[in-house]
Amino acid sequence: MHDLFHPHFADADTSYEVARYAIFGVPYDGTTSFRPGTRFGPRAIREFSFNFEAYDPAMGIDLFDVPVTDLGDLRVSRLPEAVVEEVAGVVRDIVRDGKIPVMLGGEHTATVGAVRAVEPEVYVVCDAHLDLRDELDGTPYSHGCVTRRVLETVGDVVIIGGRSGDREQFEIAAEKTRLYTADVVRQRGIGAVLGDVLETVEGRRVYLSIDADAIDCCLTPGLGTPEPFGMTPLDLREVVRTLAPHVAAFDYVEVAPFDAGQTAAVAAVLVREFIVRHWVGGR
Ligand code: MN
Ligand code: MN
Repeated sequence: MHDLFHPHFADADTSYEVARYAIFGVPYDGTTSFRPGTRFGPRAIREFSFNFEAYDPAMGIDLFDVPVTDLGDLRVSRLPEAVVEEVAGVVRDIVRDGKIPVMLGGEHTATVGAVRAVEPEVYVVCDAHLDLRDELDGTPYSHGCVTRRVLETVGDVVIIGGRSGDREQFEIAAEKTRLYTADVVRQRGIGAVLGDVLETVEGRRVYLSIDADAIDCCLTPGLGTPEPFGMTPLDLREVVRTLAPHVAAFDYVEVAPFDAGQTAAVAAVLVREFIVRHWVGGR
């Protein structure tokens, strides 16, 4: 086969057997409601991962010294409920083998399957959207229903950076989640918000999901459902750096890489940040 594309995330060269982290992509955007293209997200994130030095100067770690493997992309079905099942199967295997799943999206729907497999006690999501619809466009597995589905199995849900949803979703969020809107993040500062979140996640099994549109679309415009007045890439880096040691599974979804590369570049760096911070400080 010709290697026209980088098949792996940079420095993710360890064999599956000895890897501690298992990266995989879910190139699916079947329920996209506004602008398609997140199916190209995993490829773009991997491509941009090669732009960066292996050395992490903040931690003094070379990424190639961390045991990471990249399984490639999942062969996805057309129907979202099938994709959720496929993702759950892969993640169940990764968790059973004692590894940390690192999933690249693709639309947010994949997260529902990963969460089912990981069975976390706390779900932390950075997202412009509340994703609390019971169904959208005739399916309960739309990218707009992700947090609603997660709430059916996970007791504690934390949403950071939310700023879009209908009245009902904001009512559900107020009643059943800990919502830190993008405005609250700006007013209080991400450090203060994360101080709260740390109290929630301490000592518990945590899933961390990053929907790329949590970041202001004026900064990273490669998005399927862009929203302005959001968080900054620095805010997101702070979230990943602070929470990574507590996290049992991580995903970065909703990159639709039709910009100058900003969105995939931020994603690639934050995936690296997650792995390095978890490797140094994780359980
Ligand atoms: Mn989302
Ligand atoms: Mn979103």
